[in-house]
Amino acid sequence: MPIPEPSSAPAPSSPPPAAPTPPSTIPVMLPWLGEEEAQAAAEVVRSGWVAQGPRVAAFERAFAEHLGVPHAVAVSSCTTALHLALIGAGVGAGDEVVLPSLSFIATANAVRYLGAVPVFADVEPAGGNLTPDTVRPLLGARTRAVLAVDQGGVPVDLDALTALAAPRGIAVVEDAACAAGSRYRGRPVGATAELAAFSFHPRKLLTCGEGGMVTCRDGELAARLRRLREHGMSVSAAERHATAGGASVLETYDEVGFNYRMTDIQAAIGLVQLGKLPAMVARRRELGERYRRLLGELGEHLVVDPPFGAGNLQSCWLLLPPGAPDRAVVLAELAAAGVAARRGIMAAHLEAPYRGTARVPLPVTELITARSLILPLYHALTERQQDHVVSVLRTILAR
Ligand SMILES: *Cc1c(COP(=O)(O)O)cnc(C)c1O
Repeated sequence: MPIPEPSSAPAPSSPPPAAPTPPSTIPVMLPWLGEEEAQAAAEVVRSGWVAQGPRVAAFERAFAEHLGVPHAVAVSSCTTALHLALIGAGVGAGDEVVLPSLSFIATANAVRYLGAVPVFADVEPAGGNLTPDTVRPLLGARTRAVLAVDQGGVPVDLDALTALAAPRGIAVVEDAACAAGSRYRGRPVGATAELAAFSFHPRKLLTCGEGGMVTCRDGELAARLRRLREHGMSVSAAERHATAGGASVLETYDEVGFNYRMTDIQAAIGLVQLGKLPAMVARRRELGERYRRLLGELGEHLVVDPPFGAGNLQSCWLLLPPGAPDRAVVLAELAAAGVAARRGIMAAHLEAPYRGTARVPLPVTELITARSLILPLYHALTERQQDHVVSVLRTILAR
């Protein structure tokens, strides 16, 4: 509530008259955080151990169990998870990695961190994902891995890509940054991958501020990834502290590692969020269906589930129909009416570090990146707010 100005306030320092209040804005995304997460974080602070420790270990176990995979390694972000996953897949300098340009730029950057070469493949129009047909022509003698993204949470057909890559000795790594809670052939996305990377940034469903997870099936690989996230140390700091006479345990450093650790504060929040994930997905899918109904014929341009899975609607995107006004105009008019929509998924090959590097035309990527619009969708979005988004969008597109 504004504090009333005393009427005797000296005129020269008084602020200019307030501008008319803009309509309160409906954000594109809002994390579903509450008292339980606050309590969990506070407990960690009170415990005195805030770095990577027992909560991180518990979060890893819970996440692995949720997915039905043997190993989960918590890290500081999905970007660092991708870096480690690509190392785990054996990608090194000069190797080629086939991936979609249509993705958040971190996907391509992780390839560059290793001195490897991102080779951009096009995607299918319905879900924005790689397919064997778009990947096949780009596989060659130097291809070390395919990095498959679950676009905005829409599951990619990982089995089909694996069937193409595995006989050629090419690894498949899943960038499941957006896909916690999505389903693929009856199982959680990531469950069937040799290596998958997840994000816990607030723009995704499950969040702990920042954070990521690598999941894998091989125990030795998991142990190596755990060392790599902690400077290459043979014995983790948490293990040494947990040992009586820990000072006498001498760790060694057998390869160059990183500091990619998650904190126990983040993991405590993540554990609470993981428990809420099924409810988050259910509500998002309900609201997504409602968007489709309310949008009528415009709903036909809304992102859909593939036949082999169900998305978590991390991004509820719509392809602007032919004849619609320019997207910048649509976004500006939505913003003026209090709706914070966003441009759809970016394309890395149109940004400075990757400009001119595409080896094949990417027409579907360029169409989606130019014409897609992400609609507000979050757990607490009310039906009234959703009605407002739809009515504003319809008005803009009807012209
Ligand atoms: C968000 C995102 C990332 C990066 O995740 P961070 O946790 O922010 O590092 C990587 N890939 C995709 C597809 C993403 O959407």
